[in-house]
Amino acid sequence: MWAATCASTWYVDPTDAVVVAVVGPLTLSLATSLIATQVKRGDHVICVDNMFTGSKENVAHLLNEPNFELIRHDVVEPILLEIDQVYHLACPASPVHYKYNPIKTMKTGFIGTMNMLGLAKRCRARFLLTSTSEVYGDPLQHPQTEEYWGNVNPIGERSCYDEGKRAAECLTMDYHREHGLFNTYGPRMALDDGRVVSNFVAQAILGQELTVFGDGQQTRSFQYISDLVRGMVAMMDQDEVVGPINIGNPNEFTMLELAELVKSIVNPDVSVKFIENTADDPSRRKPDISRAKELLKWSPKVQLKDGLLKMLDDFRKRLEQAEALERRRTMDGFSPKGGPP
Ligand code: UDP
Repeated sequence: MWAATCASTWYVDPTDAVVVAVVGPLTLSLATSLIATQVKRGDHVICVDNMFTGSKENVAHLLNEPNFELIRHDVVEPILLEIDQVYHLACPASPVHYKYNPIKTMKTGFIGTMNMLGLAKRCRARFLLTSTSEVYGDPLQHPQTEEYWGNVNPIGERSCYDEGKRAAECLTMDYHREHGLFNTYGPRMALDDGRVVSNFVAQAILGQELTVFGDGQQTRSFQYISDLVRGMVAMMDQDEVVGPINIGNPNEFTMLELAELVKSIVNPDVSVKFIENTADDPSRRKPDISRAKELLKWSPKVQLKDGLLKMLDDFRKRLEQAEALERRRTMDGFSPKGGPP
């Protein structure tokens, strides 16, 4: 993650529970991991999400907890809350989802971040922005350190997300001076999320061909959700580091290597189908995490094979449900030209 930021002033009454606003977390397993971590340690958690790409099901098990609240709200509109910490995660992050409504994506990056920073400022709360490795674009520097300014097409199909997050980083640093996420996967990812790990795992379980875009030689570095959550909490809980800080797993794989790994773990009988790639797809991506290691004493623990095994049970269970199977039959999110269902 471009882990970027912390706020300027930090005040919390030690006798009171810390009130945490987690904004836009209902995709991925962030809901269950980050929020469950906070609820368990006694913080009061207010989850704010417009449920565009996320689902209420992800927090269904927390709805009766006295220290948990769920608010359906879009961060493009201001919101008044009394809080001590803001985790600002809001923004569609799957290429399929953010290309579906690019202007809204840009508004979320810019106006949504302005609103959340305003909220943090008014409450004198600590603020953490989850940015993205997309801010590095198709990187000319490898691996990517936090100092790298990136190689981003400002007017391409991905720009709404890349530039939206770059604007979000700029604003955050302007409000104080900022935390970046690299490709993350785990249980409870939407089955139709459209990203490569969830696509391959779902396709392999269903016995479908694995859709490798382009020649499959492009690389990504995948981190398991629990590693990300540890990194975010470590960032939020410390007082010194402002950011940005890369939070990611530096083990790098080509998409063909990922396809072979998924085949070997899930279903060796499926084959690979090469299809045309989307525009501006970064050719490689790998975080330099020296800073997170040194300053947060954080490093990823879960290897890709182990992480894939951990998400498998959850994907199998959900795909077995007739409703999910029906959704997958009708959706087109697995095609690079498709929109979200
Ligand atoms: N990709 C793929 N097959 C898919 C979905 C994605 O080969 O079904 C590739 C895509 O071209 C990219 C990489 O996997 O090179 C990661 O794509 P994803 O959408 O997961 O995340 P990104 O890093 O592009 O935001």
